[in-house]
Amino acid sequence: MIECRNLGKSYGTVQAVSDISLSLDEHEFLSILGPSGCGKSTLLRLIAGLEVPSQGQVFLHGQEISGRKIILPPERRKFGMIFQDFALFPHLSVKDNVGYGAAGSKTEKQQRVNELLELVSLPHLATTMPHQISGGEQQRIAVARALAPRPRLILMDEPFSNLDYQLRQQLRRDIREILKHEGVATVLVTHDQVEAITFSDRMLLMQKGKVVQEGTPAEIYQNPQTIWASSFVGEANHLPVEWQNDSLKTPLGELNVPFEIGRNARIMMVRPEDFKLESVPADQANGIVKSVDFSGSVQNVGVLLKSGASVQVSGSPHLLWNQEDSVKITAERYLCFNSSGNRLNGIPE
Ligand code: ADP
Ligand code: MG
Repeated sequence: MIECRNLGKSYGTVQAVSDISLSLDEHEFLSILGPSGCGKSTLLRLIAGLEVPSQGQVFLHGQEISGRKIILPPERRKFGMIFQDFALFPHLSVKDNVGYGAAGSKTEKQQRVNELLELVSLPHLATTMPHQISGGEQQRIAVARALAPRPRLILMDEPFSNLDYQLRQQLRRDIREILKHEGVATVLVTHDQVEAITFSDRMLLMQKGKVVQEGTPAEIYQNPQTIWASSFVGEANHLPVEWQNDSLKTPLGELNVPFEIGRNARIMMVRPEDFKLESVPADQANGIVKSVDFSGSVQNVGVLLKSGASVQVSGSPHLLWNQEDSVKITAERYLCFNSSGNRLNGIPE
């Protein structure tokens, strides 16, 4: 449905977005994840038609809508926008806010408003004013208002950032369901990896104006292509490694990896859940437990390796570790990276 080709945008000497190509299918949920200042909002505004690209084009169903100039103005794109600050009209009641963009006769509008207020579970607030309702409720109303004109695409810029943690999780789940129910394609911009992972079908990971990786949340989590991506998406332990005499010397002991990977490997990355801990006598240990953080369903264990490096391990809480326990620690899964921080391909067994 939407295609961006080699999109770029600069403000003076700042290259906010460079050479981004992406496509979005009907009904698809895409999230754009990256640290603050990496160009996410600029990319969203380029898609919306609120910015003229410095390079590249945006297409809608194969028709160019943004290029050297804005060809189809934003208000005719049928895109709904939802922002961090809710942006409801303060002088309009909840139902008038929702009805604002709805089309059709008075009865049809009324029907659409009622249907949407049901969908966001707030029919009882129809006649209240925005300042009388909570932040979470305001954001649900903002979603209802964006959906009222039956947009083909919803663009959301950090929509949950102004809400507290508990509310954010609940609202994220609810809004995802509401948007799926409406069948509308969605682009979510966020700096919060958990939000991107749980919300979307596909993710674009951005760094300094560029897309550095694209894939499903599971693909990006399991196969980060750079060291940076491995720690931006999920928790990662990084350990120095060295290729010597045909084997990979690591703080966890020697590992057998193929020559093509081993000879260029400088860093190994292990997810906390991919370590295995065994209780062993001190003389066979390669690590000592230094901290145990039990949080109900998981146990997070800090282990100081003989090499001097520290790692974080997470696992089931069935057997609780104690400080100063001697352990043998191994990695059941790991990835190797070269000196430039790029992933060496082929997953060593
Ligand atoms: P993000 O949403 O990922 O935090 P932005 O897209 O807002 O990033 O900004 C990317 C870069 O472009 C930043 O360096 C920002 O300062 C710059 N930028 C964004 N909008 C403008 C603007 N209107 N004028 C000048 N610089 C801008
Ligand atoms: Mg932004």
